[in-house]
Amino acid sequence: MNKDRGRSGSKMEIGAVERKRIDDALDKHLVSNSLSTSQGLNGKEKDRFRPSSISTGKQPEDPDRRFTALSKNKWPDESDTDREGSDVSGSDGEDISWISWFCNLRGNEFFCEVDEEYIQDGFNLFGLSSQVPYYRYALNHILDVESSHEDMLKEEQNDLVESAAEILYGLIHARYILTSKGMAAMLDKFKNYDFGRCPRTCCSGQACLPIGQSDILHSSTVKIYCPKCEDTYYPSLEHQGNADGAFFGTSFPHLFLLTHEHLKPRKPSEKYVPRVFGFKIHKR
Ligand SMILES: [Zn+2]
Repeated sequence: MNKDRGRSGSKMEIGAVERKRIDDALDKHLVSNSLSTSQGLNGKEKDRFRPSSISTGKQPEDPDRRFTALSKNKWPDESDTDREGSDVSGSDGEDISWISWFCNLRGNEFFCEVDEEYIQDGFNLFGLSSQVPYYRYALNHILDVESSHEDMLKEEQNDLVESAAEILYGLIHARYILTSKGMAAMLDKFKNYDFGRCPRTCCSGQACLPIGQSDILHSSTVKIYCPKCEDTYYPSLEHQGNADGAFFGTSFPHLFLLTHEHLKPRKPSEKYVPRVFGFKIHKR
């Protein structure tokens, strides 16, 4: 499925009847196809040599709705050819997992790679099935589990599953980064300034952490939190601010800094003072 990973995939208006049919077929399929078994990798990975045409869609005009498009439809200024060879595996013939592919897409730099073992443990996914359409398909997709039913899906249904997989991955990610393994992965990224620096001059380029303003999906896009001034900002690179804030959550940076106390910087003593020709401005 998803021979073209880059296609616009946010069309959620599939008919209810059709959706039920897919879910029913899937339910039957899953009886004999448990996720906990090692199904092995399938042949889908050949599509991941390059992130290809993520840019084919149009950017939503309403900024509050940008995040619903996830990693797609974000860069209308880029053509398919621009994407070729830009990142991911780079060399021909090298297979990568869906998770690696997804995390290496432009705009997904804030995501760390979630351990497949973590995803395979149903306990960690409790409650997510009600939040994500095509949940089981999406889960199979993330884990590269072969499903014969996927071949029966129409192209637009593949797009829906791809979108659902991205949402599901994001929600799993929000949980994973609160675990010790997830936090260690985020620590590496923090040290690498992957989340950007505080734009406030008094913070002297302090490394930031990603934060959601809400834990509820589709509430707001991801922001960055500065541990020094303890404020939140838009990510410095616009394309990094399209992900849903719920994929990072409201607690992550604070739990991170409680865990790694030595990384918590002192509050800046400096404060900017507005002046005109060198004189402080009297407050009225
Ligand atoms: Zn700051």
